[in-house]
Amino acid sequence: MNVAIMGAGLSGLTCAIMLERHGIQPTIFEHRSQVGDRFVNGEAFLNLLTRPVNDVFQYLSDEHQLYLKPTSSIQQINIHSQKEKAIINEHIGFLSIRGRHEFSLEKQLANQVKSKIVFNSTHSYEELLREFTHVIMATGDAAYSNKLFNFREALSATLKGATVEGKFERCAVHVWLDNTLAPKGYGYLLPFSDTEANIVIAYPDLPENQQQQIIKYWDRFYECVCRELSQSLKITDQFQIKNYQMGICKSARIGNTFFTGNCFGTAMPFLGFGQFEAIMTGIYAANDLCGFSKYEESTMDLKNSYEHSLTLRRGLEKFNNEMYDFVVKHLDGYLGKRLFQPSQQNPLKLASYLVRPFINKDG
Ligand SMILES: Cc1cc2nc3c(=O)[nH]c(=O)nc-3n(C[C@H](O)[C@H](O)[C@H](O)COP(=O)(O)OP(=O)(O)OC[C@H]3O[C@@H](n4cnc5c(N)ncnc54)[C@H](O)[C@@H]3O)c2cc1C
Repeated sequence: MNVAIMGAGLSGLTCAIMLERHGIQPTIFEHRSQVGDRFVNGEAFLNLLTRPVNDVFQYLSDEHQLYLKPTSSIQQINIHSQKEKAIINEHIGFLSIRGRHEFSLEKQLANQVKSKIVFNSTHSYEELLREFTHVIMATGDAAYSNKLFNFREALSATLKGATVEGKFERCAVHVWLDNTLAPKGYGYLLPFSDTEANIVIAYPDLPENQQQQIIKYWDRFYECVCRELSQSLKITDQFQIKNYQMGICKSARIGNTFFTGNCFGTAMPFLGFGQFEAIMTGIYAANDLCGFSKYEESTMDLKNSYEHSLTLRRGLEKFNNEMYDFVVKHLDGYLGKRLFQPSQQNPLKLASYLVRPFINKDG
């Protein structure tokens, strides 16, 4: 067996680590000049989205002997709507760092990989297919899945973000649900040290958003964050992503090509989260190649989560600011605490069943 992994990100590197454990040395092809060679940004793991797994780092460690470190845990979430605010103190999840930072998740994974990584790769999928018996498609986007007519796109999103300097509580995150800041999307602040944080707005590329000027929302959002934190935050870096595609593969595996991470469909449409799911697809693909399980079967749960997540996204797109105010007001207290407390139940799955009739009714 001769395995090529296209992309040295979360899913590709995880797959390599798992294969090496069972005596398979893949070759990894990365088109950038080093692992994580992109802007630094903080990302979150929310327990609410990964249940029944309530602690992803413990789960990866105990169940898969994959040892990764978050930058901190999240012990407080501040949810803001236009007129309301909910503060929930619970163990809500973890923060990670991505990109060029020395402790980024991809660098932590790369430090555990022994296989050869070919940097600045210009090898196409077709070339790899000719040279190797198996290809793990792990490029973090849907380009090849689309090209192979294997992708069902649900939506794309625009994201604009910045690294800001100020004073932050490392374990406290903020989320804004306000259509005047991010229409049908959301804004967030994730700290990655006591003095640095990312502030980001993300919203779907719906027809009514096409004409909107992101800069208008961005200025409003930035002012809102500064006001909320009573600080004048200094912007030290900025990024913008257009057409961030979210969708899912029709087949998780075609012949000896395995679609992993975002190539498979792990960027979940509700909030665009997908780190945990990307890592899991890397594990599942390796397990299939080692003869332990079938990739199509292992990824079924992720496909189901994707469908629930898409239903919730469609539901969220119907929310106006009065509805957000109503929800946020009720999250401030017992309900919010219950929602975020560790549990085997997944309330988002239940919520997606509740939302489904309304989505269908309105087409
Ligand atoms: C701004 C932003 C914020 C996010 N926030 C969160 C969050 O808070 N929580 C969360 O869970 N998820 C978040 N996500 C989603 C999460 O980052 C992704 O779901 C996850 O990284 C996908 O992993 P992957 O393995 O598919 O791709 P990646 O980890 O992105 O790796 C893909 C790799 O493939 C390489 N590559 C690309 N094309 C080629 C090619 N042709 N040949 C060779 N190599 C190639 C890339 O350079 C990269 O190294 C966020 C995404 C973005 C963009």
